Order: sequence, then structure tokens, then C-alpha cells
Amino acid sequence: MSKFHILVVEDDAPVRNLITTTLKAHDYGFLTAADGQEAVMAAASHNPDVILLDLGLPDMDGVEVIRRVRSWSNVPIIVISARSEDSDKIDALDAGADDYLTKPFSVEELLARLRVIQRRLSQMEDQSPHAVFVNGQLKIDYAAGCVYLNGEEIHLTPIEYKLLCLLARNIGKVLTHRFITQSVWGASWENDVGSLRVFMATLRKKLETSPDGPRYIQTHVGVGYRMVRVE
Ligand code: CA
Repeated sequence: MSKFHILVVEDDAPVRNLITTTLKAHDYGFLTAADGQEAVMAAASHNPDVILLDLGLPDMDGVEVIRRVRSWSNVPIIVISARSEDSDKIDALDAGADDYLTKPFSVEELLARLRVIQRRLSQMEDQSPHAVFVNGQLKIDYAAGCVYLNGEEIHLTPIEYKLLCLLARNIGKVLTHRFITQSVWGASWENDVGSLRVFMATLRKKLETSPDGPRYIQTHVGVGYRMVRVE
């Protein structure tokens, strides 16, 4: 397999060096950009496998970089932001980012996120026609519209089924409340987070059997939800 190439977009040299040193030590290929303009150009000319993107750039907002790159590319984008405000993360995710890390972050955390993306990409290559989705003990038969947990069929309402399929198709990716409500109900329901929570609660009741907490669907407080890959 050829080396995984990562575009590191960060104007802060010490942080950029920390990231590239980490990547080098773990045998990742990389290139760097110190501002938004350079980032967009590098994304277009080098076609990286993943982009690590700082949001606070000198020439343009990182969210703008996401919008531009998304106009032609589906490359996974992990946002690295010093901003702890939920609204910044949400703007980035809504613009098409896949995941986020908040500074200060540990290098282990960064490497873990990269592994998740790598696994997702290799799985996407493996199973081209997505007739059946399998994650741990959860199975979705898209053609039949049936969901199984531990080998037994579970009965979902149409809305719960739509929610589950949306999360499954975007496994590993944080989906914002707005993205979910728009996808499931359409624009008129935009930001009806209260209703979304109710449907999510009933879906989880059917899906999450462990008393130790959710296995399949992770809550990102104030941001949204993500389906995690279960071993
Ligand atoms: Ca910065």
C-alpha cells in the first residue's frame, strides 16, 4: 500500500512541527501549508488522503477553506481548533469537515483519529455495493429495510430507520444537529433539536442494550451525534 499523505494546515510553526514530527515518526507522508490560500492550492495539486486543518488562519477562515475544498473533493478533513466554542465546530462540520480536535490535543488522540479515517477509507474500498451494513452486532439490510441486533430483527419506526441509516452511512463522522434534521425531515425542521433528541432517545433504547453506556451512537454535547465503529 502506498504511503498515506496528509496535508497539515497550520500557521503556528511550533504546533505544525509537533504534528509533522508525529506524522513522520509514524511513517505518514505529509505536506504543509501555513495559510488558507496555500492550503487550497496544495489540496488541489497534491490530492492528499486527509487534511488536518487549523481554523484560525491569517488570510482566511478555516471554514472557508473547507467550503472551497468541498466544491470539488470529498477528502476527509479533521479540524484542529483552539476555539472551544461549539458554534465554530458546528460551522466547520456543516461546511463538510469530518471530525474535530480541540487544542490542546494529545498526539495519541490525533493518531487515533487518523486511524479511524484510514479504516473508513479502506472499508469503503472493500465493500463497493453497500447492500448490507455491519457494525459489531448491528446489521442493516438496506434492500429489505430490516435492522438486526445480535441476530434478531429490531423494529424501528420510519424516522428511526432513516436516522440510523444516515448515521451508518456516515460512520465515524460527527453529524451536526442541523445536518441530521435537514437530511431526515428537510429544511423546514431545521434546528428542531428537541424533536431530534426525542427520536434519538427512542432509537437508542432499541439499539443500545448495554447499561454501561452507548456503544453505537456517541453524543457530542451541543454539536450532534456520531456512529462509532464497534469491534
Ligand atoms: Ca492558527
